[in-house]
Amino acid sequence: MKEKLETLLQEAVSELSLLDSEESLQGLRVKYLGKKGLLTALMKGLGALPPEERPIIGQMANVVKDRLEEKLEAALSRVRLARKEEKLRSERLDVTLPGRRRPMGSRHPITQVIDEITEIFAGLGFQVAEGPEIEQDYYNFEALNIPKDHPARDMQDTFFVNDSVVLRTHTSPVQIRTMLKQPPPVRVIAPGTVYRCDSDATHSPMFHQIEGLLVDKGVTFADLKGILTIFVSQYFGAGTGVRLRPSFFPFTEPSAEVDIACVMCKGKGCRICKNTGWLEILGSGMVDPEVFRHVSYDSEEYTGFAFGMGIERIAMLKYGISDMRLLFENDLRFLSQF
Ligand SMILES: [Zn+2]
Repeated sequence: MKEKLETLLQEAVSELSLLDSEESLQGLRVKYLGKKGLLTALMKGLGALPPEERPIIGQMANVVKDRLEEKLEAALSRVRLARKEEKLRSERLDVTLPGRRRPMGSRHPITQVIDEITEIFAGLGFQVAEGPEIEQDYYNFEALNIPKDHPARDMQDTFFVNDSVVLRTHTSPVQIRTMLKQPPPVRVIAPGTVYRCDSDATHSPMFHQIEGLLVDKGVTFADLKGILTIFVSQYFGAGTGVRLRPSFFPFTEPSAEVDIACVMCKGKGCRICKNTGWLEILGSGMVDPEVFRHVSYDSEEYTGFAFGMGIERIAMLKYGISDMRLLFENDLRFLSQF
């Protein structure tokens, strides 16, 4: 019996040394230590021994069992470690390979211009105001002193949704909406998308404007000129020439168009400024009392000025873009230059 146990252990150990997978080692455990295993079978013969030998052989059998378990565990952890190392080797990454660069996005030039202009006016105490792009005829025309039969309606080719609803043709209705919402003083800047039925190299049916409105006691034309001069020198550079030309808008009186010295030729005359040395950048004027009447502001007590400019035109001048349509084709080769 004693020899049988020793032989069994030796056989098991030599068999074990040949195995190199977890599955085969588990198989070996079943073969020797399982319920129908060889050691278990041997132990069943214990009862046939003389009583005095039983505890000695029993103890020996336990030692054999423990030794075998020990060997199996050691072999199992050896096999698991080897497999883990193999996995690490096969999944190794070469971190010295150069990475793949993803193309970086950037803000659209129109958005850049809006942000820059808004920031300048925010520094002058203006708050951003917004309004709907689908607008009541009343806010877009009527309240801005452009009644139904007014010839000024022909100045703007309007997209009509129905008789009383339009796609706003300018950001000026935001002036009306702002004044209806609050009493003076008002100091707002309103950037936004506007629509007109017009399309060529310098016109797009969808374009952007930025509108400014300041209303308070004692506001004069000199304040308008002062604010716009500060804006021009901050945006186009200190010392850029500014001139105001008398003009007409139904919602301002008096009205002026504002020119800056040509940014391309510095006033000498070139193709961009049509040899005049000047570029028109915005329209402006003192708010017409008729507009104040529509929003119930007392024009005896308050005065104000308004101005508006086309963002695309500013972007084209600033970046030397000759065709407005380039701004809306979303060609990355063009956009990535900004
Ligand atoms: Zn010029």
